[in-house]
Formats: sequence, structure tokens, C-alpha cells
Amino acid sequence: NLSDRLTSTFKGLRGKGRLTEADIDGTIREIRRALLDADVAVPVVRTFTGNIRERALGAEVSGALNPGEQVVKIVNEELISILGGESRPLRHAKTGPTVIMLAGLQGAGKTTLAGKLAHHLKGQGQTPLLVAADLQRPNAVNQLQVVGERAGVPVFAPEPGVTREGERQRGNPVKVAKKAMKEAEQRQHSVVIVDTAGRLGVDAELMKQAADIRKAVEPDEVLFVIDSMIGQDAVATATAFQEGVDFTGVVLTKLDGDTRGGAALSVREVTGRPILFASTGEKLDDFEVFHPDRMAGRILDMGDILTLIEQAEKAFDQEEAARMADKVTKGEDFTLTDFLSQMQQLKNMGSMKKMLGMLPGMGQMREQIENFDERELVRTEAIIQSMTPAERDNPKILNGSRRSRIASGSGMQVSDVNSLVKRFEDAQKMMRAMAKGGGMPQMPGQGG
Ligand code: GDP
Ligand code: MG
Repeated sequence: NLSDRLTSTFKGLRGKGRLTEADIDGTIREIRRALLDADVAVPVVRTFTGNIRERALGAEVSGALNPGEQVVKIVNEELISILGGESRPLRHAKTGPTVIMLAGLQGAGKTTLAGKLAHHLKGQGQTPLLVAADLQRPNAVNQLQVVGERAGVPVFAPEPGVTREGERQRGNPVKVAKKAMKEAEQRQHSVVIVDTAGRLGVDAELMKQAADIRKAVEPDEVLFVIDSMIGQDAVATATAFQEGVDFTGVVLTKLDGDTRGGAALSVREVTGRPILFASTGEKLDDFEVFHPDRMAGRILDMGDILTLIEQAEKAFDQEEAARMADKVTKGEDFTLTDFLSQMQQLKNMGSMKKMLGMLPGMGQMREQIENFDERELVRTEAIIQSMTPAERDNPKILNGSRRSRIASGSGMQVSDVNSLVKRFEDAQKMMRAMAKGGGMPQMPGQGG
């Protein structure tokens, strides 16, 4: 599936120090193949990979992320953007009931969704009315009634008997919908959800019926309900409904069974209409407000890695890191100010302790971070802040009287000051050795 494919692609990148244009193109090829296999529409794949390539080539070098991680980050951001960026809330009518009409192919999950949506809105204090405007299938009205009962929401249906007599005496769904609107106003329902008929394939009669219902009820939202397992037909179906009825939003159903994830990416990009909700099972509660970022995480299935990347970026002050690296290579003297700033970074990293083993190159720092004692940092800060700038830059001048002045200024013992100076000197030695020998900096400050 898509997430497995992308994951293995990114694994190949993870060990790399720097990405060449060829690396990026190889990765893009893999992403393109994975997306096409996941039934993402061709033009969508083209846009998507084009954006990623451009951004990956121009990516700034980050102190916190290796190039492979940067590509993951870019792919994630582009996925979110193609899925609509932010979630878009349901639009409500300014006066009178909010009218929501559902449209889509037979079996897409409209009737099931009607119940879930009613249940969801009821939970928000709304008083929904469900309307059975699918008079196509003999059992459709009854199905909605069952769904309504389960959700504890009333159902407006045509006079009993009409549908039970089957195909020959079908009621008129447009009339039913109009009647339902009157009923909703009289009974002061705050929301009306209109369930409509679908066919197995797109057809003209069905489209006209849906368009007529739309005209009759003037909905605030027309939600196009689409089975996320529909595959490459997603784009053609969505386009047909957009032209035939037009819709204001999309609902993805059967996401519980969607192993490919292609429909979600294609429909939003091709129609430009936001995805509002997702249906993830047959039960009333298997329903969610659609969040593009969560869906992107699901497609990538790399939630843990993405969280890690976010935290690493936050914890790691890039400028500071660059400044330190520069100092080390020049072999300049390491000062107490540097020492303190390293300890502070260590503290930031403490908050991501558990995940550290996953970050390439950082495994060796893990032990130090695990032993990190926050009180120690507080003491160190107090002591260093009681020093004059000259003392911080050149600790060699710290004689006995200076040390006792610093101890009383910071509320510490002279022995605390001594132990800090000792640890600093150890760190300084290590920094000097590194400036000569190179290699990954060990975080000093936890030697004592
Ligand atoms: P409609 O023809 O568009 O009204 O579709 P239905 O609501 O009758 O749903 C068709 C079938 O899909 C039913 O068996 C539903 O139980 C099932 N279904 C609907 N939504 C979901 C979903 O999100 N997940 C799963 N697994 N099944 C669903
Ligand atoms: Mg139905």
C-alpha cells in the first residue's frame, strides 16, 4: 500500500548525509509509482511530485534534520496541502434550518452517513430531521428509518405504502423533499439532512433528479459522498457529480477499508472542494471530522517519525548549533556561556527522550539526556549568571575570592562552584580534542 511504499522509500534516504539531484529524482520516481499504484489520478500525481521535487531541491540545510527526514517533511506538508490544508467546518444557515443534501453513487454510504451526521449534529445540540428522498430502491426508506431510530432522530418519509408497493408506484422525491422542508420549519428543526438515491453508475436521470432536489430545497451544503475504495473511478465520478449537481463538500466513506488512499488525494485536488467528514465503519460512531493533517499522517503512516521531526526542530536551535560547530572547527576557546547554552539545549532535548534513539546520529547522546537532571541546570544557570562576563569568557581568572563571591551571589556553596568549573574544564578539553580530531560533538555538562 501507499504508506508501506513511501516508508521503504524514505528508509533508503535516512542514512544519507546529503541528497544529490539524482537521489531526489530517484525518490520522486518511487513516490510517483507508489501514488499511481494507490490509484491517485495521474494529473494529481504530476502536480504533487512536481511540488515535492522543487521543494526538495531548494530545501534549506537544517541542523536538526537529515536530508531524508527533510524529504519526509516536505512530502507530509504537500500531502496536507493537497488534502485541503485546514479542515473546513460545516456551513450553517443564517436563518431557518440548515439544509444538507447528500449525493453520490448507490452503495457509497449516503444513508449510513445520514445517520452518523444526524447523530454528530445532535451531539452538538442541533435538532436534525432526516429526509428520505431516495425512493428508487424499495427498501431505502425503511433503511433510513432504521438509521434514524438508532441515532434517535426523526425521519420524514413519504406516506407509508408508496415505496412498499415497489418500483411501479414510486413517490416523487422532489415533492417529498419540499414537504419535508415545510415540516422542518413548522417543527423548528435546526438541521435537515436529505438522503437521495444513487445508481451503480453515473446516469443522466439520476443527475437530473438530484439537481431537481437541490433546486427544491436550496441546501446550505451539498455533500458528495464517495467510497474511498473506488480507485481510479474516483475522478470521473466526482467530476460527473460536480457537473451534474455540483457540490460544496466531500465525504469519504469506508476509510476503514481503504488500503490505498488514492481517492482522498484525487477528489479534493480535481474538484477543488473540501473534504468535510470521513466515515470509518458501519457503526454510528465511526465518523470523524476530516483533518487533512491526520489523513496525511495516515497515508504516510509515519506519525511517530513526523512527531519526532517536529520536536527535533523545536528542540534544536539551528543558529546555535551552527555557531558551535563553527567554534569547534576553528578550535576557538569554549567559554562558560557556551557551556550553559549547551546545557540548555540538553534540557530541551530531554522532553523528547523516548524518541531519541530513532534520530540518526543521536543515539550516543541518549544516555546523557536520560541522566539529565533539571535541578542541575538550575544550579548551573544560577552560578554562571553570578559571574562577570570576563569570568564567563575566561574561567582561568576564577580565584578563591571570586569563587566565594559567586557562591554567595548565587546562593550556592563554594564546592558547587568548584564542581561546575571542573565539569566545564572537562568539557573544554573534549571540545579541543574534537576540534583537532573531528566527529560528533558529545554534549558536555553531565560529567559530575
Ligand atoms: P447508499 O446507497 O449510498 O445509501 O449507501 P449505504 O449507506 O446503504 O451503504 C452501503 C453499504 O456500505 C452498507 O452495507 C453500509 O453498512 C456500508 N458502509 C457505509 N459506510 C461505511 C463505512 O464507512 N465503512 C464500512 N466498512 N462500511 C460502510
Ligand atoms: Mg441509501
